[in-house]
Amino acid sequence: MVHFVGAGPGDLELITVKGKRLLEEADVIIYAGSLVNPRLLSYGKEGVEIHNSAEMTLEEVLAVMKQAETEGKMTVRLHTGDPSVYGAHREQMDALDRLGIGYDVTPGVSSFLAAAASLKKEYTLPGVSQTVILTRKGGRTEVPAGESLKSLAKHQATMVIFLSVGQMEEVAADLAPAYGWDAPAAVVYKASWEDEKIVRGTLKDIGEKVKKEGIRKTALIAVGGFLGDDYQLSRLYDGSFTHEFRKGTEGGDGTWQK
Ligand code: SAH
Repeated sequence: MVHFVGAGPGDLELITVKGKRLLEEADVIIYAGSLVNPRLLSYGKEGVEIHNSAEMTLEEVLAVMKQAETEGKMTVRLHTGDPSVYGAHREQMDALDRLGIGYDVTPGVSSFLAAAASLKKEYTLPGVSQTVILTRKGGRTEVPAGESLKSLAKHQATMVIFLSVGQMEEVAADLAPAYGWDAPAAVVYKASWEDEKIVRGTLKDIGEKVKKEGIRKTALIAVGGFLGDDYQLSRLYDGSFTHEFRKGTEGGDGTWQK
């Protein structure tokens, strides 16, 4: 059995309880060495076999999984953040299907969620944006024609851009026609790690600031009005708005008891 596990964004405590348990039980761990915090490997048991997939091809990864399966061993394939976001685990799952090897997936805290936590912001502010676009600028992997940053920008939604901080100035130029050069932008480098850095600015100056900080990778770009302070209060906690769990405001002091 192979368990795909989301390692979380970096902080050792931001892996799920289930993910940690699987790491503790694994006979073989294959981890994405370019981004996964290697200290997570210390959760592994004595004698666990460890492979760094950053130095391996897909075939080599599959060969390790196949060998482990033949020996009746349990494998954890540790992906950074959550595997479903730029994790390239689909091709591994499809190959395991062809090989008749069973697997499951344990989700993780994606870096875009850790970035919001570090920024202390909410992506979905009423009156600002109710949509989050996760995307990237085309690089070695192309982005389909209908998903260019320029066209996505037209929605003026909250945008979180992966894998693109090395092209910060091009990203800003793509977004500025729709958001305006004064739109707030932030770059979060190594969200949740000890050496995390946050750079705040506007589309106009964020490129320069990021360059000054020497940030070239392992960072997310966040753009949109959610970074500002102008928004409407949520209906969820609005006293004049009743819902299933709170029928009117009389009597209630707003506290909960077990
Ligand atoms: N599956 C991962 C993303 C893998 S793609 C996830 O859910 O987060 C790799 C990209 O993710 C990096 O180029 C960077 O843009 C982003 N990333 C991963 N970890 C990060 C972190 N701790 N802080 C900021 N960005 C991170």
